Amino acid sequence: MRYFELEEPSDLDSVLWSGTYRAMRKWCLPGITCPRCDAWAGMLAYPSVDLSSLPENDSLTDGWPQSPEESARRAALVRPFVPPELPIEPGCGFGPLVGTARGRFGPVIVWPSWQVLVREDARDLLQGAGLQGIIPVRAELRNRRTKELPLYELEARPLAKLHPACIYDREPTCPFCGRHGFTLPPKRSLLGESVPTGLDLFGVEETTRIVVSERFVDTVSQLGPSDVFYRELPVE
Ligand SMILES: [Zn+2]
Repeated sequence: MRYFELEEPSDLDSVLWSGTYRAMRKWCLPGITCPRCDAWAGMLAYPSVDLSSLPENDSLTDGWPQSPEESARRAALVRPFVPPELPIEPGCGFGPLVGTARGRFGPVIVWPSWQVLVREDARDLLQGAGLQGIIPVRAELRNRRTKELPLYELEARPLAKLHPACIYDREPTCPFCGRHGFTLPPKRSLLGESVPTGLDLFGVEETTRIVVSERFVDTVSQLGPSDVFYRELPVE
């Protein structure tokens, strides 16, 4: 199986679809203030995690950076709602996108590159074709054009890893805030043993990249072109 990273169109003058949206996520963890790293927040998000039954969820709508202690307190509130094998980090978002949309959307929407939405017909096609790892969550986007099909965000769980040989500047983990990571290498590949067998969409640990299978690309292409660039990611 071949795999591809999703990228937004590089040339906005040549896009085919007019659709745009503005949205915030329903809940989030705050960013973190760190005496060594300054304030930071990650981009990780789990749209399928529903915090509406959490009594303290009103403290989870503000991403303003907090001390490591307060950050840890709020993370502990959320932890039971997230599958234990999945990481959470400062700034992590939960629940659906909520906002407004305008214009017409193609089958797949990648904007920004760490969020992927599909039109309702694309969701039905992916699920009907039996693709695996497709976790659609309806985006709560108000649109004046009532004829437009609803959009569904696909949750990209960070299950794969980049191959360690392509990472050239890994930072040691910060003892104060737990920050770690590296610059996204321009030439990169997936670590073969980390690729989740059979899944057609997943994220890549410690990056904001979303990866889809060749089967995903072939399936959604049946609905015509999208404003998405599929960049092949070798597996080694
Ligand atoms: Zn730090």
